[in-house]
Parts: sequence; structure tokens; C-alpha cells
Amino acid sequence: MKHLIPYLQDDQKAADYLRQLRWPDGVQCPHCGSDAVEPRERCDNGLQRFHCVPCAVRLGQQFAMFTDWTGSIFEESKLRPLDWLLVIGLWQLKLNATEVATAADIQARTAQRCINLLDGGIYETYHLEPTRQLEHQVEADECYQSAGSKGLAREVERQDRAPRQRGLQLRGRATAEMGRPPLLGLVQRRDKTDQDAPAAQVYLEVLENVRSATIKPIITAKVKSGAQFFTDEYNIYRFAEIDYDHRTVNHGTGEYARRDPDGICVHCNTMEGIWSGLRNFLDHFKGISQRFLHLRVARYEFLHNHGHLHWRQTFEVALRCLFSTPGDYWRRMTHQHRRIPLTLCYR
Ligand SMILES: [Zn+2]
Repeated sequence: MKHLIPYLQDDQKAADYLRQLRWPDGVQCPHCGSDAVEPRERCDNGLQRFHCVPCAVRLGQQFAMFTDWTGSIFEESKLRPLDWLLVIGLWQLKLNATEVATAADIQARTAQRCINLLDGGIYETYHLEPTRQLEHQVEADECYQSAGSKGLAREVERQDRAPRQRGLQLRGRATAEMGRPPLLGLVQRRDKTDQDAPAAQVYLEVLENVRSATIKPIITAKVKSGAQFFTDEYNIYRFAEIDYDHRTVNHGTGEYARRDPDGICVHCNTMEGIWSGLRNFLDHFKGISQRFLHLRVARYEFLHNHGHLHWRQTFEVALRCLFSTPGDYWRRMTHQHRRIPLTLCYR
């Protein structure tokens, strides 16, 4: 986080730095996109005010004002730019809300809200980005993560259902309803012959259940057809034979990796490694609500996929993602008090 220190002097410097990331080619009006804007006096918290000339003409007003954060995810926040800069830096270090609160010297509840907003912004922009696809050699696997409403009476009432049962007592594959939502992981193996190749790219999705009907649309959308596709023998992946060069390892007979006659290594070990990294990350949150699981998973996915970059580059990519949305997803979610079904996310 050393590079942030020059901007951590005061709110004005922090605001200037964040503005530079939001509008690298000069300030544009968030309402009309015009660059015919005039700077005005700053707000008390250091944010710069601007007056948009075309908007003022259109509205027939003397002034049409906006600030550095109008129309962005940070618009409704009362946190100061300096604190935000620090919180985002700590967020990137995979800390939980308590640790962020201690390190940034803010209230735990505020830290929790900031982190949900950041994770929600990354989920909305990066995770749901429709053009991001995996190709060449792709492994798929599923795992299960315990996550419930932790029996909070308020939560149970809100979701209008019976209290969660203990997942362990139930037979069969776990589902979200049982309190153990499955996760689907897709990973594009890193090209080891290319020194400069980026980290192995992953796509992680929290599911309601593991049925072919649930995972097929995701795999079809996220893996380019014609790719080599590696899974275990689990029959939900059978459909993949049509579009992909589908190869399986039979975990049931103790086979975990093999080299096919054409020299291709068939295994899901890359994905297994990512699961253990994800578990370490999620354990850190000490019990996770199903309402937030997909947000934390999205943060892990984003940070993993940018792991080959310098810390500063990742920081700036994250901020550009966050500034590219007004934060509708998170606002919608706070009103719904529950996880938004995937069908609404894939538009
Ligand atoms: Zn305007």
C-alpha cells in the first residue's frame, strides 16, 4: 500500500487521486456525459464540485452541480475520501470487516457496509461481465460451502421460511436450501510456456443446486466452444461432450491425473488448489451468511484473476470497475434482504 501514502495526506489529495482514476481523460458530467464542466468550490469533505453548462441549459437553471462521486457507488456514503482510500486498500488485502475497522479506525458497522458495497460493486461489474470467457484448457469442479442465516430469528422471519436444518443430517448432494450452497468453479489453466501469461483465470459461481440444468447455461456462457474441458466423472457434465473436447478423470477408481496418448494432462488439480485458497479466504469471515457468500466469492475471484499484477495495478483496476457502476446491484440487494436469484443476473 506504499503507493497510497502520497494521497493519504488529506481528503483533498485523496479526492483528487480518485477523480483521476474515475475520469483519466478529464471530468465528464455523470448525467449528460459532456466535458463542458467548470470546477467550483470544494465540499467540506474535500470532494470537488463541478457545474455542468449543458445540463444547466437543458434544465433552465442557473447551475447544474455534481461532485466527484455523483452517480458512482460512493455517492450515498458519508465516509470521507481519505477513509475510503484506506478501506479499499485494506479490502484488497482480503481482510474482514473487523480487521478493516481496526486498521482504518472506523466503526465495525461502517466497515461492514463499505465491504459489502465494494464486494457488490465487483460482483456487478467484474463477475457479471458477459464478455469474460475461458478458453484453451478449462477445468470444472464443484464444492460445497456451509453458509446459512446462522439461525438469527430476524433473518429467518425475513426470508419467510422454516429455520435452517443442519446440512449434515440430510442425505444426497447439498443444496443452498440445506445451508450448504454448492459452488461451481471454472479455471483456465495458465499457459506455462509463456513467461508473461496472466494467472490462471477463474470463474466462480454460487449455485442453488448441482443439476445439469443449473450449470449448463453457465458453462455454455463462460467456456468458449471447442476448448479442452476437464472434469471428474460426475454425470452432470455429460452434456459438455457436444461442444467441448471433454475428458474426465475417475476419482471413484482412484484416478486423479493421467496423461492421454496425445500428451494432454487430464486432471482437475488446478481447481482443487483454488478451492483450498478460497476456503482459507472464506474461513477468515468466521461463518458466512448465504446472503453475502456470492459477494465474498466475487472478491476472491477478482483478486485471484489479478494476482499476477502489481498491487497498485490491481487497486486501480478495482477502482475503475467500481466507478463503472452506480451501485444498483447493492442497492437492490439491501432492499430485498436476500440473495438475488441468478436468473435475474444473467440478462
Ligand atoms: Zn451534464
